Amino acid sequence: VRHPFEHHRATDAPRLSAAGDGPARTGSLRAHNLALVLRAVAAAEAPPSRSGLAARTGLTRASVSGLVDDLLAGRLVRETGVPTRSGVGRPSTGLVLDEEGPAGLGLELNVDHLAVCVVDLTGAVRVRRTAHGTSGPGQLDALVTLASDAVTEAGEQRLALSGAALAVPGLVDPATGELLVTPNLDAAGLRGALTRVAGLGGVRIMIENEATLAARAEQRALGSAAPRSFLQVSGEVGIGAGLVLDGQLYRGRHGWSGELGHVTVWPGGRGCGCGSDGCLEQYAGQQAILRAAGSPDDALGSIADRARAGEPGMLAALADAGEALGIALAGALNLLDLDAVVLGGAHAELAPWLVEPIEAQLVRRLVGAAVSRPVVRPSTLGADAAMLGAAWSVLDRVLDDPARWLSDEPSG
Ligand SMILES: [Zn+2]
Repeated sequence: VRHPFEHHRATDAPRLSAAGDGPARTGSLRAHNLALVLRAVAAAEAPPSRSGLAARTGLTRASVSGLVDDLLAGRLVRETGVPTRSGVGRPSTGLVLDEEGPAGLGLELNVDHLAVCVVDLTGAVRVRRTAHGTSGPGQLDALVTLASDAVTEAGEQRLALSGAALAVPGLVDPATGELLVTPNLDAAGLRGALTRVAGLGGVRIMIENEATLAARAEQRALGSAAPRSFLQVSGEVGIGAGLVLDGQLYRGRHGWSGELGHVTVWPGGRGCGCGSDGCLEQYAGQQAILRAAGSPDDALGSIADRARAGEPGMLAALADAGEALGIALAGALNLLDLDAVVLGGAHAELAPWLVEPIEAQLVRRLVGAAVSRPVVRPSTLGADAAMLGAAWSVLDRVLDDPARWLSDEPSG
């Protein structure tokens, strides 16, 4: 006999909101079973009936019916339009996640670009807004404006926001959601901006490291096709990495793993904002690539266009960036023996010029290179991974604890 609680093992440390969650209202069997049934609906390949759910979950048909009624009332699931008749028995109605129910607001704040999306419970992107070239003091205002537009549009689509999450390049305290270190962002004012965003939708907002969210998003997008163990590079002005080991996100002791950008590639080399010298991001971050191409003041987004145009200085700068990335990645790969390296963030678009010099370093430096080398490829989600990961992390909280949504849901 399967014990129902075996299905509810957390695979990840719980993230608390910046505003501070109360103690988790778990402990009730009903809350657990609601999550069990909702996850079963989410995981099913074809819309399951109530009896199908009873068979999948080990719960009685009567229990499942009561739980499904609660999930229907909270718009977490809906019945498929046309009842299907199975055999000669009563018509059985299939259940699917309700795309008109709770939605997650995902935000990404980076040195030169902003991105906001609203994703429904099925994972579909319903609203997407981005802005480039928004560094400087007006950036946080621009983020609030983008979020405001997205919240309005979500309301027009009759979506109910269940929460928000912000992806940032920096070290976040996973216990409090406080942003502790942001070498490349002006953190002043961020707290106020987040309060304004939270006020827009009347929701809690979580803060999480962008590379961590991007790695989780890649895993979710690929499902069972995701590599077991991989490192996802999140390349912007700084360079972060999300590390997945044997299917589990590895966050480290403080939640600060993956600071690939501050791995030393040239001891005694360029000084870095972190206080060290010769850090990877001084050679392979967007600003470093522009500087190497002789145009440090150009827009960060111009790198790919100039590479496509075949500009020799830019191609040389990208080759050098790829070499530096390859040196840093070879260290990580010799240590961890991973299946894949995924290039995300701005590096996803630059993959056509980075993969070859990275692989050249791996061939030279990986002990097992002659037998087997990890795949090096761009993220399947391109530059959107962190933003989507932020929105999906909100929805994972609903799927993991639907009872909380049902009790918090505004009436009417
Ligand atoms: Zn550094």
